[in-house]
Amino acid sequence: MTDFRVYAIRYAERDARRGEHFHGYDSRGGEPHPTAYYVWLAVGDEHTVVIDTGISRARAERAEGLRYLASPVEALARLGVTADSVGHVVLTHLHYDHTGTAREFTAARYVLQQAELDYWTGPWARRIAGERWLLNEEDLAHLQAARADGRMLVADGDACVVPGVSVHLVGGHTAGMQVVCVRTARGHVVLASDASHFYDNIEGDRPFPILHSMTGMYGAFDRIKELADGPHLVVAGHDPEVLDRFPLLEPDVAVIAG
Ligand SMILES: [Zn+2]
Ligand SMILES: [Zn+2]
Repeated sequence: MTDFRVYAIRYAERDARRGEHFHGYDSRGGEPHPTAYYVWLAVGDEHTVVIDTGISRARAERAEGLRYLASPVEALARLGVTADSVGHVVLTHLHYDHTGTAREFTAARYVLQQAELDYWTGPWARRIAGERWLLNEEDLAHLQAARADGRMLVADGDACVVPGVSVHLVGGHTAGMQVVCVRTARGHVVLASDASHFYDNIEGDRPFPILHSMTGMYGAFDRIKELADGPHLVVAGHDPEVLDRFPLLEPDVAVIAG
């Protein structure tokens, strides 16, 4: 089995405050605490897997305060990966900032947790009013059509995407939040996505305030630590610090494992 090379690609950023990123009152809540937006790429000898698809250009234009650096699809193309050549697209969860360009991966098989689909399409879905803005209905419709066409691996817990890349249901942030574990030459890397937006979430044991289950979030932190071959191989989902902790290929592309 070959090892994968893994990259974190920042496609947008936004100014924010600490209080937006940690559950509960904190005297430091007013301090600046910017958010970065990423997609992730795992490349092996036989397989190319994209993890999350970011925000579409059309949606980004309506997003207040967002500095859109590039469409994730354009950013991948600059690295030599065209959307139509990608075999698998893992969607860690269905928030709009992770599904926005999914439809552009025309040949890909999507990987999503059953619990995430159930949450947004089940009998209570219409009543999730407060959180509904985080879902892009068009993306969900596209993914449901792809599922009907047999273009989706619906996972229920742990699942192998391709040899060396696996997904793991952790919940916490959303009902069906999954993290991705990738075998690399450095050991097993875990792409935490929104299971730990920032390193301060997992390393300080402090949940993010948008959550489906508080205890689930603690369980997710533990599972990430179990899966990764060391804390230096955990990749937080929205932390600008990813670009400081790992060497850069380009200003917005970190090499998690080369
Ligand atoms: Zn999210
Ligand atoms: Zn997110």
